[in-house]
Amino acid sequence: MLESIKIFDSVYTITAFDNKKAVNPLNSEENTLGYVDYNEKTIRIFASPSTKETEKTLLHEVLHILIRELRITEIQEDERAENIIDLLALGIITIITDNKLTVTEENSG
Ligand SMILES: [Zn+2]
Repeated sequence: MLESIKIFDSVYTITAFDNKKAVNPLNSEENTLGYVDYNEKTIRIFASPSTKETEKTLLHEVLHILIRELRITEIQEDERAENIIDLLALGIITIITDNKLTVTEENSG
């Protein structure tokens, strides 16, 4: 699993939790798959038993950061934003999987 990811000028630290209630630091009662703290530059995700699910969650959070960084307000302000981001994450992870590319493995080079 990646420990951090560089997104333009920022490096976000990635922390995985095996309990969905631990993901959102602001609400320990809520089951959460992913959470971004833009100030602390941290991404918190639920480590699903399914690698594809975990990678999809990570991509979902990365897309949130990307959309914010690129100021794609059409998506940010759309009430379907979560659904759009989720579909994009699923589509991208499926393409990556089908082409045997990797997302979360450390680059050995
Ligand atoms: Zn989201």
